[in-house]
Amino acid sequence: MRGMLELQTEVQFLKGIGPRVAETLATKGIRTLEDLLYYLPFRYEDRINPRSIEELKPGEMASVIAEVRGSGLFKTKRMPVFEMTAGQGRSKLKCLWFRGGYLEGRFKPGALVALYGKVEFSTFGRGGLQMLQPQFEILHEAAAEGEAAPESEEQKHFESLEIGRIVPIYEAAGKLNARWFRRAIRMALEQMPEEVSDAIPGAIRTRLGLIPRAEAFWHAHWPDAGESFGDLQAARTPAHQRLIFEELFFLELGLELKRRKARMQPGIEFGINPQVRAALKRVLPFHPTEAQKRVLKEIAGDMAHGSPMRRLLQGDVGSGKTIVAFEAATVAMENGYQVAMMAPTEILATQHYLSARRILETAGYRVVLLTGSLDEERKRAIRRHVARGDAQMVIGTHALLEDKVEFEKLGLVIVDEQHRFGVMQRMKLMRKNNDVQPDVLVMTATPIPRTLALTLYGDLDVSVIDELPPGRTPVSTQVIGDERAGEVWEFVRKIARGGEQTYVVYPVIEENEEKETGLKAAMKMYDELRKKVFPELKVGLLHGRMNADEKDEIMRRFKAGELNILVATTVIEVGVDVPNASAMVIEHAERFGLSQMHQLRGRIGRGKAKSYCVLMTGGRVSEEAQQRLDTMVRTSDGFEIAEKDLELRGPGEFFGTKQAGMPSLRVANLIRDRKLLEVAKREARGLLEDATGEIPAEEKRAAVQYLRTHWNRRYGLVEVG
Ligand code: ADP
Ligand code: MG
Repeated sequence: MRGMLELQTEVQFLKGIGPRVAETLATKGIRTLEDLLYYLPFRYEDRINPRSIEELKPGEMASVIAEVRGSGLFKTKRMPVFEMTAGQGRSKLKCLWFRGGYLEGRFKPGALVALYGKVEFSTFGRGGLQMLQPQFEILHEAAAEGEAAPESEEQKHFESLEIGRIVPIYEAAGKLNARWFRRAIRMALEQMPEEVSDAIPGAIRTRLGLIPRAEAFWHAHWPDAGESFGDLQAARTPAHQRLIFEELFFLELGLELKRRKARMQPGIEFGINPQVRAALKRVLPFHPTEAQKRVLKEIAGDMAHGSPMRRLLQGDVGSGKTIVAFEAATVAMENGYQVAMMAPTEILATQHYLSARRILETAGYRVVLLTGSLDEERKRAIRRHVARGDAQMVIGTHALLEDKVEFEKLGLVIVDEQHRFGVMQRMKLMRKNNDVQPDVLVMTATPIPRTLALTLYGDLDVSVIDELPPGRTPVSTQVIGDERAGEVWEFVRKIARGGEQTYVVYPVIEENEEKETGLKAAMKMYDELRKKVFPELKVGLLHGRMNADEKDEIMRRFKAGELNILVATTVIEVGVDVPNASAMVIEHAERFGLSQMHQLRGRIGRGKAKSYCVLMTGGRVSEEAQQRLDTMVRTSDGFEIAEKDLELRGPGEFFGTKQAGMPSLRVANLIRDRKLLEVAKREARGLLEDATGEIPAEEKRAAVQYLRTHWNRRYGLVEVG
């Protein structure tokens, strides 16, 4: 006899779940029956029509049910390999696990196993097919000799879950394997009330044809035999779509409420009178592009409005964001406020400072630079200028975040290259004005689709520069193996003879040990290039461990054309602007991330000359690395590249989840479910605006209430109040 449970019942009150198991589940964020129901399979196995070994083809992913014939551990030169042979009638399939010693004794001859993995031609022994490291599940142990397997009703019930149907495969948690989840979730479903409350308003459910929630839970875990297998794997069944929509809908509702709340806060109402307009004109060094004009208008609109600006400015590398930022700064300074502009590296901060001096100081504004590497005395003096209001604009690095930095009257915060800073850091700068919220303009050169940006950057509105300044020619990009380095250097020599300059970039990888290696590679190659390859040319070296003066000096010489070649680590990744540099060689390009390569390549193609980028590979190129390289060759569109990067790495890696303060989703995937995200955003907005009065007030309240109770607990950052 099973009692009905509430969705909010804690898992430890479910049968078979004690405190220990509950603890393991908690590591996966599963605390209630409802949480358990949202723990969806990450894939499914077709065990209605399991494949016969005969018809398997090398290269495909397949699930096979077969009988254990024999197994054993054998030693190869490099490592022990565990081999298990599974059979169906006369056909056999070999399964191999490297360092599989732990599997000894697991496979008893005669046991029935489900195997899932990539089929390939056998590498050990003669002919036949094999699976390397397949996932497996022992479905039925071989009965011990002379013993009839005694089976309880319950056991039979559960064994029927393992075979002869589409079977859900769950990610294991600690000792809890897929089979454990299968049984626990099955039991939870059986104890779930027949009708579960649904906080999505009825009108929306009807419009989108969403199936009832309880039904969605059942079908997502235990699909009907007739369900399309492809749809299941791609999370496109009605059950999946329903659960995904729900998650995205409440996410968007939360973000929308948050955005509305932010707009209610008092901000600065910057005046844009004829005098300010004249100043804006004076500052502009060239005709802005249409896209620049459009975003300037959006920004000016925000600034003139009484609520604080929270705007993200997206634009590809070289699209001209800096001047837009300077125009915004001009509005603030003309209104008697100070501006803080933060950049992720000293080189970039310095470069912005140099541009600001050229553009803004000439127009009569007082700009200072504040970076960590300045000596203490100088820093103190600058802080004093800022605190007194002598400096109208301060450009700097993280050093700006220090508590010691105080402003007289901060009105605008500009953060360049957002993805390098965390949300928290942005907040910290915003709090530097105690009286009112300063306006905030965040700039990023890693553009992503609009709805996604609105979701990931939560509280920000989005402007996009989708046009490059005139006169740019696309960079021609090629992938070349480093065995052809000689040809590449010859090409670099030709570039130098034509009076143009080249960057040669070496990877620096995050981990310490490798960082050293990357650095050594740059230094070693610097020596080699300078002495052996290009003795007749001027070669410079730039890396992150040099002190600021050394870096400045090298950058200055490169900019002035005194160096033909700049050997560098990725410190040049962002912002560096030397239009006469028309070639870039990236060594070990296979090790670079896609967005990173795009940023690097953005250093060239800035002048009139045709530019060339050589992606040199050394050593093994993984499948994913190959995709990155192909993308670089195919396109130079930052949006396309960022999307591909997101697709390859997933949003977590792409942004560094914690840093971006992005909520972790449990069923939805922001990339895969982009279309639903659009719908969810529209519906969430619709609910709050609801001009037609389609949704009854109590349903609206219920939705917001559900958001409070469910989302605040799950995603601390999406505060709703
Ligand atoms: P990013 O968006 O990568 O920060 P920048 O602001 O550094 O790009 O601009 C790249 C280059 O293009 C700079 O040399 C800048 O002076 C130039 N630039 C920007 N806007 C225009 C424009 N409207 N017309 C001509 N050149 C421009
Ligand atoms: Mg920039």
